[in-house]
Amino acid sequence: MAITDRLTGLYNFGYFLDRLKEERIRADRYHRLLSLILFDIDHFKKYNDTNGHPAGNEVLKKIAAILKEEAREVDIVARYGGEEMVVILPEASRRSAHELADRIRARIELTLFPRMETQPLKRITVSAGVATFPVDAANEDDLIKKADKSLYLAKSKGRNQVVAFEPMIKIPISYKPSREVSKVALVGSFNNWDKEADYMQRQSDGSYQFIISLNPGVYHYKFVLNGVEWIPDPANPIREEDTQGGENSVLRVSGESSYYPAGA
Ligand code: GH3
Ligand code: MG
Ligand code: MG
Repeated sequence: MAITDRLTGLYNFGYFLDRLKEERIRADRYHRLLSLILFDIDHFKKYNDTNGHPAGNEVLKKIAAILKEEAREVDIVARYGGEEMVVILPEASRRSAHELADRIRARIELTLFPRMETQPLKRITVSAGVATFPVDAANEDDLIKKADKSLYLAKSKGRNQVVAFEPMIKIPISYKPSREVSKVALVGSFNNWDKEADYMQRQSDGSYQFIISLNPGVYHYKFVLNGVEWIPDPANPIREEDTQGGENSVLRVSGESSYYPAGA
C-alpha cells in the first residue's frame, strides 16, 4: 500500500509524481497531449473548525470517491496534499480536461454533505485549475505550477469554479476561403486534432480568424472546412507530411513571438 493514500484510497503524492513524469515522457515521445487538474476544497478549514476533523475526513473520502467515479479508466487520481486532489489525464486536451473538471465541480456542488449549511457558500464546493502539456507547460514541474496558478485564479474569482491556464503568447491565425464555406475549424497537435475544438470567427470580409494561446514549441495544424475537408494553411509554406499522406502546416512558437506565417 506504499502507493495508496490511507484515508481516501487514492494514489499518494509520491506515486502521482512518478506517474506524471512517466506520462509526460510518453506524451513528449509520441507527440500527445497530457492534462492535469488540481482540485482544492473551498473554505475547508472552516468546515473542520465548525464540525471537527473526523467530519472533515468524511468529506475528503466522499469527494475522492466522486473523482474516481467521474475519471476515465486511464486517468490517475491522487491525493496531492491535505485537501487537494489531482487528476492526470493522458491524451486529454485543455478543453476535455476542463469539461471533466467542471462536471466534477458541478456534481460536488449538488452532493449533500452533513452540516454543509455551515459553510460560507452553504454547500461543499471545490475549485480547480487545469493545465495541458505541451501547450501550457514545458515539463511536469511547470505543468503543476500552471495548474496551481489557475487554481489560485479560480479561488480569487470567487471559488466553486474551474480555470484553465492561458499562455501569454497569443498567435492570431487567419484564413480566407476561396469559396463560400459554412464553418472553419483550426485543428492541430495543440487540441488533439479535434475539429469541434476551435471554430474560427467569421469576419466581415469573409475571412476567418482565431487567436490561439500556446507555450513555446513546435505544433502542427490544418483547417477543417465544413467539418469534412482538411487543408494545410495556404498562407504558411512550412509544411510537413502527416501519417495519412496529407500535409500539415508547422507553427513554431518562440518565447517572444511566433513565426506566423513563415517569413512574414
Ligand atoms: P480555500 O477556499 O482558500 O481553499 O480555504 P481553505 O480553508 O480550504 O484553505 P486552507 O489552506 O486555509 O485550509 C486547508 C484546510 O484543510 C486546513 C485543514 O483544516 C484542512 N485539512 C487538510 N488536510 C486535512 C485532512 O486530512 N483532514 C481534515 N479533516 N482536514 C484537512
Ligand atoms: Mg489548500
Ligand atoms: Mg481549500
